[in-house]
Amino acid sequence: MGKKTARQKAIIRRNIFLSICALILVLVIALSVFVISSIVSNLGDNDEKNDSVISSQTSKTEETVEKKNTTDPLIDGILNPDFENLMLINGKNPLPENYEDTLKLVTIDEIYRNNNNVTDIEETVYPFITAMVKKANEDGVNLKVWSPFRSYAIQKILFEKQVERVGGDEDKAATVVARPGTSEHNTGLCADFNMADDKFEATEMYNWMMENAEDYGFVLRYPKDKTEITGVIYESWHWRFVGINRAKEMNKLGLCLEEYIEYLEDKN
Ligand SMILES: [Zn+2]
Repeated sequence: MGKKTARQKAIIRRNIFLSICALILVLVIALSVFVISSIVSNLGDNDEKNDSVISSQTSKTEETVEKKNTTDPLIDGILNPDFENLMLINGKNPLPENYEDTLKLVTIDEIYRNNNNVTDIEETVYPFITAMVKKANEDGVNLKVWSPFRSYAIQKILFEKQVERVGGDEDKAATVVARPGTSEHNTGLCADFNMADDKFEATEMYNWMMENAEDYGFVLRYPKDKTEITGVIYESWHWRFVGINRAKEMNKLGLCLEEYIEYLEDKN
């Protein structure tokens, strides 16, 4: 009996040992399966994440292209750099007769101007011109709007006075004062600053404008070296709104509005 019991005990011990081995094996296999499956699923997640990053970048690019907005002056209260107005008005390109009827004007606040006779600007240009004068003033530069929009009637009086001044020569007069309907001032898209006078060139206001006006969409409309093309004398005080990105490109290329419009036509 004693011998048999010892054998039985040995069998039981072996069985217990085998059971433990089997249990450990099962646990090891289960752990391996778990580890491998979690690695595989992480890889899958990363791929998905990468895909979603790529797709969000793609849709962002598409959105930027779709969202290029050239018709709203402000986006969420901020000046829209893509807003533009390249209307060309000169001796050869007069305004349509009914232009003034449809023109929407806004009065520039008194703090931004130094002339009470002419006070209005085209409504889409208003946020740009006021932001520009405000910033100049904050920079300690006394920039003020002298002459923004002028009506056809006022331009007519100014032109007739100039014709008288030069002894009746209308063509000669037109190089200094535009004929009514051919002046940018009739559009409400431009302004003379501080004074309509050559003295402006020697002021800190002029220097500030040369450096900063493009950030607000304004360009020097009648530069010294472009009088042949513009047909107008050099006017350091006369600045035209074209749009922020347009102004920057015009300055970079060194083109006046007449040249820039031709450049755009050639490009298309
Ligand atoms: Zn002017």
